[in-house]
Amino acid sequence: MLYSELADIFDRLESTGSRLEMTTILADFIRGVDRSELRKIIYLAQGKLHPDFIAKELGMADRLVLKAISFTSGTSESVAEELWVKTGDPGEVAEKLISKKKQMTLFAEELTVDRVYKGLTAIQDAEGKDSQDKKMKLLANMLHDSGPVEARYLCRIVTGRMRVGAGDMTILDALAEAFATKEDRPAIERAFNITCDIGFVAETIANGGMGAIENIHVTIGNPIKVMLAERLPSVSEVVAKMGGKCAIEYKYDGIRVQAHIGKDSVKLYSRRLEDLTSNFPDIAEALRERCKFGEAIIEGECVAVDPETGFMLPFQAVTHRRKKHGMDEAVKEVSVRIFMFDILYRDGQDMTYVPYLERRSELESTFEIGDKVQMTTMRLVNSPEEGEDFFASAIAARCEGIMAKSVAPESIYRAGSRGFLWIKYKKDYQQALTDSFDLSVVGAFYGMGKRAGKYGALLMAAFNEDTGRFETVCKLGTGFDDAFLDSMPELLNAGLSESKPKMVDAEMVPDVWFDPTVVLEVVAAEITLSPIHTAAKGVLKEDAGLGIRFPRFTGRVRDDKSPEQCTTVGEIIEMYEMQAHDSDGLSE
Ligand code: AMP
Repeated sequence: MLYSELADIFDRLESTGSRLEMTTILADFIRGVDRSELRKIIYLAQGKLHPDFIAKELGMADRLVLKAISFTSGTSESVAEELWVKTGDPGEVAEKLISKKKQMTLFAEELTVDRVYKGLTAIQDAEGKDSQDKKMKLLANMLHDSGPVEARYLCRIVTGRMRVGAGDMTILDALAEAFATKEDRPAIERAFNITCDIGFVAETIANGGMGAIENIHVTIGNPIKVMLAERLPSVSEVVAKMGGKCAIEYKYDGIRVQAHIGKDSVKLYSRRLEDLTSNFPDIAEALRERCKFGEAIIEGECVAVDPETGFMLPFQAVTHRRKKHGMDEAVKEVSVRIFMFDILYRDGQDMTYVPYLERRSELESTFEIGDKVQMTTMRLVNSPEEGEDFFASAIAARCEGIMAKSVAPESIYRAGSRGFLWIKYKKDYQQALTDSFDLSVVGAFYGMGKRAGKYGALLMAAFNEDTGRFETVCKLGTGFDDAFLDSMPELLNAGLSESKPKMVDAEMVPDVWFDPTVVLEVVAAEITLSPIHTAAKGVLKEDAGLGIRFPRFTGRVRDDKSPEQCTTVGEIIEMYEMQAHDSDGLSE
């Protein structure tokens, strides 16, 4: 296929605001795509070359892209740079300058999708002394044969700014529309949730239909989307919701890890699919040594402990293991244990369909428990009193709360979903009206006074799971220390956007916009109806959304969460209702 055809589709997707229309454009297009090219096309539509868990990056610095544009278009770097600063969008710079060049070029070999995919792969893989120059030439070579729209998307892809709005959920909708029916949509989503590879799911359904989709199973090396918990405001409600009977585990405050234990090697993934193996080499080794089976996929929480006493240390201690450099020292200095809580696969058997209690006992018998490899502490509970009692021991053991887990026959592992099969309850719920929020930064306001010349406050948004959009909940200006204020440009500026990003719904207008990439943890006094914030707009009251009052940054940048994994609008509605319910209780 010619790359220009694909670029035209990107252009059409970008210019519609409606998810339904986007789905139809995509569905009509992918129906006609050559099956052997579909996988690549799906990745490119998301600005990627492969699924997220493959830790390879295109790695092209803005400056190099600028150089390639100026080289190809024959424009001076300073003119290109000026345009870049003005628009903030390398795609637009390329489009404007390449279109000028196009009138002067007589011969150009047309770009195919295959050539673009190969070219981008070569850029990604270029290594060594001359790698920068090589990357620049590879891009220039493709730009040379590009028309303006093709150039726009090439430059957006290589700079990580490809956001035409074709998110995972839209692509899954389009796959159902193109190759199956609406009723098949949950099965297609499950295939994605257990493989985390949308290109693979697309290729499978295009080639083998729903039969092939239903044949996709959990496999080692393919991370599985993690199961998440709902929350409730009191232990007694948790136990009641579980039908008066459930398992309760300590809720450890560490880093969640999904371990893929192979015969010879182990890979550890974070909940956002980053490879954490080099951060926890000791845990990887201990898991392999203590696993009695050939292969297993398990989940657990990595927690820092005091090596002398075995006491658990606060979350901050384990974050030393997330640094990019000086890992050898961090491994020596910070002693870590994994507290395992689930098993998803073992020696060819997909265990996600096995009920909780059985999974738990299989997990325990899969390992020789001890030393760095432990089970989460669990108790079967039959009354609210027993639940309260166990919660008190969790807090005494320095945990942040409890995780109740259903023991009903339907208590399977629901990859990628948040539901009441797991319910969390944290100590924080007793002190504040709300849990903490993990919010995405979508904008910034310049500071005044002491903060002049810096970002003084940030516009924060929650993720709406139904629409795939980010909706604002507060302007955040407290909890920033000097070091954080100074580090903000470095943290945020890679996501600078010339105008309001397409996936953001906001009425408040900040001085600068960001594509949602950075997630910060925020605590607040309460959730209120807000005329200015767009979260859940019109859901609880016409013309009002939900906002959070007196927000404060906790100091924790949640780089373990992607923007789509931040607090959802649905959760904020629940917290709002929980809070209303609390104050009802007080007034009784
Ligand atoms: P939250 O991040 O507040 O939504 O809480 C969910 C997280 O708690 C999970 O993603 C795990 O990282 C963590 N966690 C700690 N202890 C457990 C446990 N026993 N079972 C499941 N998750 C746990």
